[in-house]
Amino acid sequence: MDSDKRKRRVERLKKEILGFALTLIIVPWLMVVILSVKNYKLSKTVREQTVLINQYLEETEMLASNAAVVIPTPVASEVVKEESNGPKRDVESMTEEEIKALALSDEELYDGYRKVYLTFDDGPSVNTEEILDILKEYDVKATFFVIYKEGRENEELYRRIVDEGHTLGMHSCSHVYSKIYASPEAFMEDTNTLRNFLYMVTGVESRFYRFPGGSSNKVSPVDMHTYAKLLKDEGIIYYDWNVSSQDATSIILSKDQIVYNSTCNLKNFKEAVILFHDTGSKVTTVEALPEIIEYIRSMDDTVILPISDETNPIQHISVD
Ligand SMILES: [Zn+2]
Repeated sequence: MDSDKRKRRVERLKKEILGFALTLIIVPWLMVVILSVKNYKLSKTVREQTVLINQYLEETEMLASNAAVVIPTPVASEVVKEESNGPKRDVESMTEEEIKALALSDEELYDGYRKVYLTFDDGPSVNTEEILDILKEYDVKATFFVIYKEGRENEELYRRIVDEGHTLGMHSCSHVYSKIYASPEAFMEDTNTLRNFLYMVTGVESRFYRFPGGSSNKVSPVDMHTYAKLLKDEGIIYYDWNVSSQDATSIILSKDQIVYNSTCNLKNFKEAVILFHDTGSKVTTVEALPEIIEYIRSMDDTVILPISDETNPIQHISVD
């Protein structure tokens, strides 16, 4: 009996040891399989997200190859303009051309010139004041596509933009793609909220819009033509860009790189809308601005203008 008992115990022990050994082998393998599957799924998500991010960055900073920059300048037309803004003269003593120039808009006045539009997205920020100071120093008018920011200091910046003759454009309230582009209703609510806010603060009803990520962004779940059409129905013109300073990359570019990106291809454009960003981290954009303006001013028959109703819209997608 004893020997039988011992035998069974030995058998049971053997089985337990075998089971334990198998468990030791199987469990790690199972873990390997499970973790591999998880790893694969995760890598896939990372790859997809990377593609999305790259797409966005490309849209935002896109057109590096087209990069060009601003232009401005004067000569004959400017002389006429200065006179028109100068001391009052008897109309009878003016030439026919001078009288005509008085009634012309900037776009008409500089017909035939290369036109460069400096545009700043994402403000106001801690840099807006300095950007405005530089523009004032050079007597250059630009366009600011702003987001919704309450507070006395921000409101003063919106007003300063308008008071100093720059164009106030819209760039959504939050700049959060998932909210803005969630649906046509969400998009229009966002746009109207910003438009009303800016009107209350500045007295100006903005008619210009720049889509966060550009109209050719790949993040909107709704076809961007829908949003472009909605804006058009509201009398709002949307603007993309054809020259990028590329200052929205994750790495902060040097001042010289921004100057180069903004100016290298400018000569190839008759109308250049240059994309800059007005955010706290874009210090080198501010540093580059004087050189960019001076470069443009050194170009022949070139003027820097703010976007207006008469500006030819630079758009990545068409609206019918
Ligand atoms: Zn933006």
